[in-house]
Amino acid sequence: MNNPHVVIIGGGITGLVAAYRLHQLYASETEGAISCTLVEKEGRLGGKIQTKRTDAYTLEVGPDSIFTRKPAGVEFMKEIGLHDTMIPVSSQGGTLVWHQGKLHPLPPGIQTGVPSDLSAFAKTKLVSLQGKARALLEVLLPHVPYPDDVSVGEFLRKRLGNEIVDTLAAPLLSGIYAGDIDHLSLQATMPMLRELYEKNARLLLGAVRQRKRVSSVSRLSGPMFITLEHGLEQLVDHVVSQITEYTDVKVNTQALDIQLTSDGKYYIHIVEEGRESLVPADAIILATPAFDSAVLLGGLEIDVRKLKTIRYASTATVSFGYTRPSYAFSLVGSGFLVPRHEGMSITACTVVSNKWVHASKKGTLLIRCYVGRDGDEEAVTWDDEKLIRKVKEDLEKTTGLKDEPEFVHIKRWESSMPQYDVGHLQRLEQIDQEIAKLPGIFLAGAAYRGMGIPDCIQDATRVSQHVKNYLHE
Ligand code: FAD
Repeated sequence: MNNPHVVIIGGGITGLVAAYRLHQLYASETEGAISCTLVEKEGRLGGKIQTKRTDAYTLEVGPDSIFTRKPAGVEFMKEIGLHDTMIPVSSQGGTLVWHQGKLHPLPPGIQTGVPSDLSAFAKTKLVSLQGKARALLEVLLPHVPYPDDVSVGEFLRKRLGNEIVDTLAAPLLSGIYAGDIDHLSLQATMPMLRELYEKNARLLLGAVRQRKRVSSVSRLSGPMFITLEHGLEQLVDHVVSQITEYTDVKVNTQALDIQLTSDGKYYIHIVEEGRESLVPADAIILATPAFDSAVLLGGLEIDVRKLKTIRYASTATVSFGYTRPSYAFSLVGSGFLVPRHEGMSITACTVVSNKWVHASKKGTLLIRCYVGRDGDEEAVTWDDEKLIRKVKEDLEKTTGLKDEPEFVHIKRWESSMPQYDVGHLQRLEQIDQEIAKLPGIFLAGAAYRGMGIPDCIQDATRVSQHVKNYLHE
């Protein structure tokens, strides 16, 4: 009998790590191996991970960092031998928030949007006296159990008031999901907040106690974010170099649909540089965005409506490089966030040369601005000229920077950020139940169990094990 053949659709980090894991799982098998094909519709691998390198800059146009508190990311890097190339985020200056015409430092202990360092919170100019009083009132509010999922916004607004949510929590969360805090699921995105609340009966008390408990540990456990010396594409290149020996990697190859014959065999209908063919598969991993997966599964006997309800937001990154900035750029932090109600085109800005000192030549300045978030995506559709003009206006207003950049790079990410809306986990269960009607087909990637790179790596690991279990049933 031939070795089972697994087809992975999608060559983003999820699909690539799935191919790597499958090989690992079978490398130790004494009998029977698998053959594996990975198809990617674009001409390059890595999906959202894209690094542009010039003589002066290493610029990420997609993700720029790996969150270390979710260990799957860093552990994987170490495992594949990238340990020596990991670069910690610069600890200088922290993050700022644009508020009423000025940039203010984000007070320490507010990472989840809930103040855990009350003396720092008392001093911040980001929240008015009334806003602070309203947040502190939380300790006097009765404990109300939340039986079902709610939005992070609803939960936090009820406990801490609107001001702190709109000024601090919403931009922080928007930075991760490009999301709307009043739609994002508490269970799926911030389950630790609910847990803090349930354990301590009050959110503020829980946050303060937790900070005290973990502060000494986190000081020891290193930087919260890392990148790689040559950018995150180094991760992609490294995984690719390790899988090509045993995986047939096809770029410029789009999967069009999946067909199931009466004898229970799957075929993937692909188009490879204009030529259509059918590729047989014993198991299939769909490591594609949910809307693409819904199309691929559309001809099979399952209900893909739930899959289609996973919404996506569009964003863009607009980056500027200044070789000899005449303006004495004084912003010391890694960048700043812009709350929705401030009415700007940019949602956030990273001063790349501060955040990742190695990423630009000494004396140059590299800045990356973001536009677009859930419900506020018009800027992504502007033409280049308008987009650059608007972003530059915002940059001048916030930082005073007027210089003409020598280097401009725009990357539009249409429908790129999956939104974990209220009810996401229940939706996921229903999707899993439907997919289970197609034995041998598995879904993985950013749309489901976490959208960060560490989550995608973990999901790829999970799904490869499922494939192996299935093939050995
Ligand atoms: P993708 O990277 O989307 O890969 C899916 C692949 O499937 C794509 O290459 C696509 O071309 C291919 N495909 C789709 N349909 C087909 C088909 N029919 N046939 C063949 N191929 C197909 N995460 C972090 O951890 N840190 C960050 O700093 C961070 N910042 C981000 C900033 C931006 C601007 C964006 C957009 C995302 C960011 N993320 C960040 C999120 C993270 O980058 C993504 O969630 C993750 O890379 C998604 O990986 P994936 O493999 O699941 O999907």
